[in-house]
Amino acid sequence: TGIWQNVPEAPPDAILGIAAAYKACEHPQKVNICVGAYRDDNGNPYVLPTVRKAEYRLLEQNEVKEYLPIEGDRDFVYCAMKFAYGREMDIENHVAAVQSLSGTGACMLGGQFLAQFWGSDHPIYVPNPTWGNHIKIFKQCGLKVRKYRYYDRSKNALDFEGMLKDIKRAKDGSIILLHACAHNPTGCDPTMEQWKEIVSLISSKSHIAFFDSAYQGFATGNSEKDAQAFRYAVSQHVPILLAQSFAKNFGLYGERVGTLSIVCGDVVQKEHIMSELRSIIRPLYSSPPRHGSSIVKTILMDPALKEEYYQECAKMAIRIKKMRKKLEEALQVAGSIHDWSHITKQIGMFAYTGMDEAMCKQLTEEFSIFLTTNGRISMAGLNNTNLTYVANAIQTVTA
Ligand code: PLP
Repeated sequence: TGIWQNVPEAPPDAILGIAAAYKACEHPQKVNICVGAYRDDNGNPYVLPTVRKAEYRLLEQNEVKEYLPIEGDRDFVYCAMKFAYGREMDIENHVAAVQSLSGTGACMLGGQFLAQFWGSDHPIYVPNPTWGNHIKIFKQCGLKVRKYRYYDRSKNALDFEGMLKDIKRAKDGSIILLHACAHNPTGCDPTMEQWKEIVSLISSKSHIAFFDSAYQGFATGNSEKDAQAFRYAVSQHVPILLAQSFAKNFGLYGERVGTLSIVCGDVVQKEHIMSELRSIIRPLYSSPPRHGSSIVKTILMDPALKEEYYQECAKMAIRIKKMRKKLEEALQVAGSIHDWSHITKQIGMFAYTGMDEAMCKQLTEEFSIFLTTNGRISMAGLNNTNLTYVANAIQTVTA
C-alpha cells in the first residue's frame, strides 16, 4: 500500500557507503583504507588471542544467557572503571557508571543525561573536525552543537591557539567534547603540557569536559599513558563525563562493549545519577548485551590474562606505528616531493594526510583505493603487500 509514499530517502552514511563500494569492486589490487577497524598484516580482521581464550572459558563455564541488569554487568563496569581511571580512583564513592552499547551508545547516554540535567541551553563544543557521528548524536539529544578550532590544515598540526580561544569564548558552563587520545580523524593530540592548559581553562570557565575514549591503549600501546588527559582533568576536579569504548583496544567492534561514567562528589549524588541513567536506558534498550562485557571482565579479572592482553594490544599499536614509518619512506621512494612527516607524528588508527577531495576521489576512481574524501586513511588497512601500491598512487594524485 502507498501510505509510506512521502517517506524521503535519507542520505547514505558516507563511511558505510564506501565499505559497500569496496566490497562490490572487482579490481584485483583494491585497497580499503577507510575502515576504522584493525587488520592484521594480511589485511584480515583480527580476534585477539586473549579474547578467544576468554570465550572458551565462558563456554566451559556454561555461561547463561539471562538478562543483565539495566546498568549492565557490575563486575565488568568496575573493571572498566579501574582500567580507565586507574587503581587509585575511588570508584565506589565518586563514579556513576553504566555499561553502554559501545562508544556510540555511551556518547548518546551522556548527551541525553546532559540535555536533561545540565540543560539544552548549554551548547556542546566539538572539535573541528571530529568523528562525524558526534554531531549527529548530540543533535539528536537536543543539544546545540558548536565547533571549536582544532586542526590547522595548512600546517598539518594542532591549532592550539585557536582551540584555546574558542573554549575561552564559549559561554560559561558549556560542554567541551574532547577526544581522550588518538583524535579521529586527525591523529593529532595535544601534548601533556597543552592538556594542562586546556584543563585549567575549562576549569576557570566552569565548563564540563566530556571525554570520548575510543582508543585507550590502542594509541601508544600503553593504556595508562592513553588515559592521562582525562585522569589529569579528574585530578583537577573538573567535572567530567567519559564515554569508553572497547571496540578497538579489545577488537570487540560488533560486540558493542563500552561504558558511560560521570565523576561526582559523593555516594548520594552517585546513586541519584545511577537512578537517572537507568531511567534513560530502560525505555531505550532495557539492558545491554552480555557476551562482550563477559569477555572483557574475564580478561581484566585474571592477572595473567590481563598481562597477555596488554601485550596483544601493544602489538597492534606497534604494527600501526611501523606502517606510518614505512608509508612515509615509501612516499619518498615513490618520488614525492611533499613533506609527509605528519604521518609519523600522528597517532592512532588514522593518518590525516592533507589530501583534498579531488585527490581522494582520483585514488578511488583510478586506483580502486577506498577512503573518505577528507584525506583520512586508516593505517590499519595498510600492510606490506599493499603499501607500495598505495604509496605510488598517492604520489601520482598529489604530484
Ligand atoms: N568515538 C570515536 C572518536 C570513534 O572514532 C569511534 C569509532 O570509530 C567511536 C567513538 C565509537 O565506536 P563504537 O561505537 O564502535 O565504540
